[in-house]
Amino acid sequence: MEQEKIIDLEQQKIIFAHLTKIMKNKIEILENQRNVVSYALAAKIASESSTKTSRNRIKLKTIYCITAFAIIACGSVIAINLKSDDAEPFKTRYMVENLRGDTVDTWKFWKIDAESTLVVNIMNSGMVGEHKIKSIKDAILSTDTLSMDDSITHKGLGTSSTYFVGWKGALEESSAMKTKYVIPTKFKIIESESEVGNIVIKLSALKDQDGYSGFTKSTVDGNEILKSQIVIYDAGSLSDDGLEAIVRHEFGHALGLGHSTAPEDLMAPTISMQVPYISECDIGAVSQLYDGVTMDKTVCTK
Ligand SMILES: [Zn+2]
Repeated sequence: MEQEKIIDLEQQKIIFAHLTKIMKNKIEILENQRNVVSYALAAKIASESSTKTSRNRIKLKTIYCITAFAIIACGSVIAINLKSDDAEPFKTRYMVENLRGDTVDTWKFWKIDAESTLVVNIMNSGMVGEHKIKSIKDAILSTDTLSMDDSITHKGLGTSSTYFVGWKGALEESSAMKTKYVIPTKFKIIESESEVGNIVIKLSALKDQDGYSGFTKSTVDGNEILKSQIVIYDAGSLSDDGLEAIVRHEFGHALGLGHSTAPEDLMAPTISMQVPYISECDIGAVSQLYDGVTMDKTVCTK
């Protein structure tokens, strides 16, 4: 009899522990939901106030980070409405925060060995023509360089700067400096309908309801990027140059870069379509990032 009571008590203990665990999980879910709502409200208010004070058509919306146990997912949103008569630069916003309102370090990068190839998957490639696929590939694989007069970017008179068309060329240049971690320089582009690959570029026929054209989300564990996902909205209606510039910018995020403080830079929160190429500043930022220099912004000296 006494033994039965003990067994019964033990079972009740187990059930109680189980219920406590369930309740804890529910509380955590509710807390997360509350944080999602308050974060979304804050972002909406901020976005509305910036819209009122600006006529800009390119808008960087936000970087958001979701802390789920040990995994942090960080993403950025960029919206570009490209029209040929848009000569003025477009102001955008950049924000790093997790759902609990803490600041999240944007220091994140791929931890790979020298022989590794990152697989880049272009999903729904069939929805755009071959020339648009070429634009996407150029933004990633090209090693071409351009020389631009610095007066265009107000960096000087009578001098010029070199820009890279594709990240491969830029990253190889970055790799010229010895870094603590291996800078990715090898990419294999595939076109698959499933979300395979290290970096997925999803071409969407849908228009983002807030008018954004691009979105990058990197899933990280600690400071190691596990996967980066880029979505290009309404991809079929973008110009080739526009698509290429968006992919170039988003791919920078996919590699771990944040935003540049130089207003004319490709990775600037304010993007000018005058020189939407990879600058010496971006190349330096990659070298610093993969050398373990903790930072959340790239400071350009030129
Ligand atoms: Zn961005």
